[in-house]
Amino acid sequence: MDYGMTAELEEFRSEVRAFVAGNAPDVAPKAGVRSAENPKELALLKEWTGKLFAAGYVGGSWPERFGGRGDAHSAERDVVVGEELARARTPAAVQGAANLVANALIDFGTEEQREKYLPGIRSGELIFCQLFSEPSSGSDLASLRTKAVGTPNGGFRVTGQKVWTTNGQWSDFGYLLARTDPDAPKHRGISAFIVDMRLPGVDVRPLREMTGTSDFNEVFLDDVELPPDALIGELNQGWSIANSSLGHERSGVATNAVRLRRNVAALVDLAGKVTINGLPAIEDGAVQDRLGRLSASVEALSALVYANISRWSRQSERVSDGPMAKLLFSELGVEIARMGLELCGEAGILVEGDVGAVDHGRWQDEFLYARAYTIAGGSSEIMRNIIAERGLRMPR
Ligand SMILES: Cc1cc2nc3c(=O)[nH]c(=O)nc-3n(C[C@H](O)[C@H](O)[C@H](O)COP(=O)(O)OP(=O)(O)OC[C@H]3O[C@@H](n4cnc5c(N)ncnc54)[C@H](O)[C@@H]3O)c2cc1C
Repeated sequence: MDYGMTAELEEFRSEVRAFVAGNAPDVAPKAGVRSAENPKELALLKEWTGKLFAAGYVGGSWPERFGGRGDAHSAERDVVVGEELARARTPAAVQGAANLVANALIDFGTEEQREKYLPGIRSGELIFCQLFSEPSSGSDLASLRTKAVGTPNGGFRVTGQKVWTTNGQWSDFGYLLARTDPDAPKHRGISAFIVDMRLPGVDVRPLREMTGTSDFNEVFLDDVELPPDALIGELNQGWSIANSSLGHERSGVATNAVRLRRNVAALVDLAGKVTINGLPAIEDGAVQDRLGRLSASVEALSALVYANISRWSRQSERVSDGPMAKLLFSELGVEIARMGLELCGEAGILVEGDVGAVDHGRWQDEFLYARAYTIAGGSSEIMRNIIAERGLRMPR
């Protein structure tokens, strides 16, 4: 189903599809948002990022002097790009953190900071990570404890620990939130910074995850000396800067809906290849019923996502629109991956590269990664809280 796509957008879609087919990097597809596994893969992803920016498929909302597309850009076009990347199982630009920091610099940075960082983000040369979450501050991010203390030269000395830092092991710079006023109410004592990840005192330790790869890291900051121009915006303005940079676009959820639709199609394909009691699984009534339900739920998600994007473009978004789509997407993702793994039977234990792995071990990877989406970007419980308390106005 296509929800409100105009002929002009469909033409744009064909253009993007051809571009992806001709330029996508030769990187093995994996479930979810993943880091490069080695320097060669990193180089390919950086080059791909540069091409996506140069074609105007990402960064379209930036000021035109930094390569933005002006009136040619629209939220719907971002959606189309995200959908086409998902459809082709191609990685997006490396990676979300660079977009976040770019948004922060465009809205709150100095002209010097914009000139220093934005061209390198566009070319794919500079990799950024997001240094927000801490071991005791994830859902309640405003309770973060990493501190930045002013130094006599106008700079800052930073001490603390971050965790879940996607791409930290490959990053040139980090977008950091740290406490600058311990006596202020917790949301008001936080500032935003750019940290050169090669400074003395920055220690990045990759974490090996149950998928077998290292997508995120622990980052220890031990008396790291930051220059005065590391501060983004005003002192203690970090909370609003972070929220504003997170709220810039909504194309990610549309991408995710396409990803799930693609996974349901792959499930149907899988059910045609494997057997239950000697018969093709696709002929089993219970399998058909489950596939039908999953497919209907994915269409419901798509409808919700398009309605949300349209309300967002008209600035009439409701507080629980995003959380509803995020909750539905991430929980549905777990269900779809679970069914894939179950259909593989004993072969579900095999991974990429194993002899006899069904669909190259894809379903185990999908299953193990799907859980991450129920945590990242706000956990399912937090989404339910927002829907209940702020959407439905139920008691806390
Ligand atoms: C794949 C992935 C990539 C990530 N990348 C980054 C990154 O690059 N940079 C970064 O800074 N962070 C990153 N994160 C971190 C992410 O933002 C946090 O994991 C998330 O905010 C949840 O925080 P937490 O893990 O500390 O869990 P906690 O907040 O400790 O929550 C633990 C459990 O308690 C529940 N819970 C907490 N509070 C409530 C409440 N009020 N009501 C009901 N239940 C509650 C949660 O739902 C969860 O089940 C990433 C996470 C994932 C999974």
